[in-house]
Amino acid sequence: MLKTSIVGSLPKPSWLAQPEVLWAPWASDDPAKLEEAKHDAVRLAILDQEEASLDIVTDGEQSRQHFVHGILERIDGIDFDRKTRIGIRNDRYEADCPTVTGELRRKGPIHRDEVAFARAHTDRPLKFTMPGPMTIVDTLADDFYGDRPAMAMAFADILNEEAKELVAAGADVIQFDEPAFNVYLDAVPTWGLGALDRAVKGVDCTTGVHICYGYGIKANLDWKETLGAVWDQYRTTLPAIAESDIDQVSLEFAGARVPIEVIALLEGRKDVLVGAIDVTTHEAESPQAVAAIIRAALEHAPAERIFPCTNCGMVPLPRRVAVAKMKALAAGAAIVRAEL
Ligand code: ZN
Repeated sequence: MLKTSIVGSLPKPSWLAQPEVLWAPWASDDPAKLEEAKHDAVRLAILDQEEASLDIVTDGEQSRQHFVHGILERIDGIDFDRKTRIGIRNDRYEADCPTVTGELRRKGPIHRDEVAFARAHTDRPLKFTMPGPMTIVDTLADDFYGDRPAMAMAFADILNEEAKELVAAGADVIQFDEPAFNVYLDAVPTWGLGALDRAVKGVDCTTGVHICYGYGIKANLDWKETLGAVWDQYRTTLPAIAESDIDQVSLEFAGARVPIEVIALLEGRKDVLVGAIDVTTHEAESPQAVAAIIRAALEHAPAERIFPCTNCGMVPLPRRVAVAKMKALAAGAAIVRAEL
C-alpha cells in the first residue's frame, strides 16, 4: 500500500552531462565512453532510489538528453539537422525542434537495451517513461502531416510497438508523459486520449499517464502565475481520463494551487500517483508535509489506489536535493502507512 516512486527523471552526474540544465550536451563525444557513462549513471540512479526506500524505480532517464527528443532520434521521417524554432505548450516557451519531413516509422528498437540494462540491476518493479503522443506532436515542427491528430496517431502506433517490446525486456510499468494535456484541454477528449489509448492497446503491463505543470524553469513559473487562484485544468480533463484504458494517472499537488478533490473525478477507477514533492524548490519537504498531502488524497480515493510520487521529473535539480526529496517522499509515505 502507498507504494512510492518518482515521476521519472533524476539529475545527471556531471561526468555524463552538464548538471541543472535541460537539453544539456553529453560530456563525451566518444560513443564507447558515453555508453559507459550512461550505464554507470543508471546504476547510481537506481541505487539512489533504492537507498531512499522507494518501492518502484526508474532508470532516472539517464540515457536521453531530453524527455521528448530522446525517443525521436530513432524514428524515420524526422530531420534532426533541420531544427525549427517554434513556440511549444501553446507558445509558453520557444525551443529548437527537429522537423517532421516524411512518414513516421520506427527504425527498430529504441529503448529496449536501456530497459534490459536497468532490469538487470534491480529486483524492484521497474517503471519506464516515454513522452505521450500529444506532447511529442507539440515538441516538433511539422512539414509533412499538416494535421496534429493524424501525426499523433502515427506516433501512437510507434509508441505501441515500442511499449510492447519494453514489456518483453522487463518493464513493469510504462508511463507516458503528457504535460500537453494541461495546455490543450479541449483536445484531450477529442484526440489526445484517443492517441494515448492507441499507444497502450494490448500492452501487457501497468500503464500510466503523467500530467503536470512542468519543471521548475522560469517560463513555467511565469505561466503558473497566470493560471489564477485555483488551477482547474485537471477538473476539465480527468472525467474523460477516467473513461480511458490507462491504469494510472500521475498528478501534481505539492505547492500547486490544484484542489486535491479532483482525485474523486477518477471515481476510484485509476491508480493515482499523488505528487507530494515540489520539483521547483531546492529544499526537501519534511516527511510530515508529504504525509499531509497523502492523507488529503486518501479522502478522495481508496488507499490501494494511492501511490505517493513527485510532482514531475527532477532532472533540473542538484543531485543532493533530488536525493533528499526522495528520502522525504519515502518517509512521508511510511508515516501514513503506519497510521492505516
Ligand atoms: Zn512533469
